[in-house]
Amino acid sequence: MLPFKLIYHPGYDLNLGTHVFPSQKYRLIQEALLRDGLAQAGDFLTPAPAQDEDMLRVHSLEWVHKLKSGHLSIQELMRLEIPWSREMVDAVWLATGGSILAGQRALEDGFAANLAGGLHHACPDHGEGFCAVHDVAVAIRRLQADEAIRKAIIVDTDVHHGNGTATIFGGDPDIFTLSIHQENNYPFPKPPSDIDIHLPDGTSDEDYLTILERKLIEALHEFSPDLLFYIGGADPYREDQLGGLSLTMEGLERRDRLVFEHARRLGIPVAITPAGGYARRTEDTVRIHVNTILAAREIAGHTGRKSA
Ligand SMILES: [Zn+2]
Repeated sequence: MLPFKLIYHPGYDLNLGTHVFPSQKYRLIQEALLRDGLAQAGDFLTPAPAQDEDMLRVHSLEWVHKLKSGHLSIQELMRLEIPWSREMVDAVWLATGGSILAGQRALEDGFAANLAGGLHHACPDHGEGFCAVHDVAVAIRRLQADEAIRKAIIVDTDVHHGNGTATIFGGDPDIFTLSIHQENNYPFPKPPSDIDIHLPDGTSDEDYLTILERKLIEALHEFSPDLLFYIGGADPYREDQLGGLSLTMEGLERRDRLVFEHARRLGIPVAITPAGGYARRTEDTVRIHVNTILAAREIAGHTGRKSA
């Protein structure tokens, strides 16, 4: 058994068919964890869909209504970059329920991982870049409303800047946002996070890890959060079709361990979401996300937590 819970639902698949976004990856991650004996059935929790009341803590009533009814304009669909379907809407409501549950379980167990979510481009009144709703923002607002947390940090290592996150939490002194991403890539413009690390094209492991560690230490010491939400994109990988950085699979594992180690050392619970990943071979994307779970297992194990 893992020393923390994984959160998964078969309905996470957005059913996008041959789209560049392999939304079947959520199922493939779950299958790989079970097949390779890295997790057992008892390690998984099944989330309920987020309640609309929680969605409205972040999103406008109009946007929630448009998504639920399917009344999106051509412009809104072009910005979203995925087709509307009932399955897609159900999937993102489930992913958001999963991220709420991941936040709650992380506070209990030290770590938790939702196998979907990290939809960091979604804004209060529109979706974009494959992200219809911002599951992590909704989860944080719900945890705050429950008085489970006051302050949270979002560490976003997806290759694309977390523009939705920055838009939602800009000016909020209780939420610290850190985004490390390729500068010369979507989205444009990039509204400011509390810390933005704009990387040049082709940045490789050592340069990436050095600057990430320096800025992460700075953030964690400046701001003592009750919870860290990790948006662990697989797309800084050098074989990614939508990314232009040059991280190796080993570099990505080191990235995950680095974030988890620093959080753990300071006693900050970590909730994990996968975000993007568009490797030429989908199995590489799946492997990178599985490795994130293994990194969390390693760090959780190192710190004396019992794994049965
Ligand atoms: Zn991305």
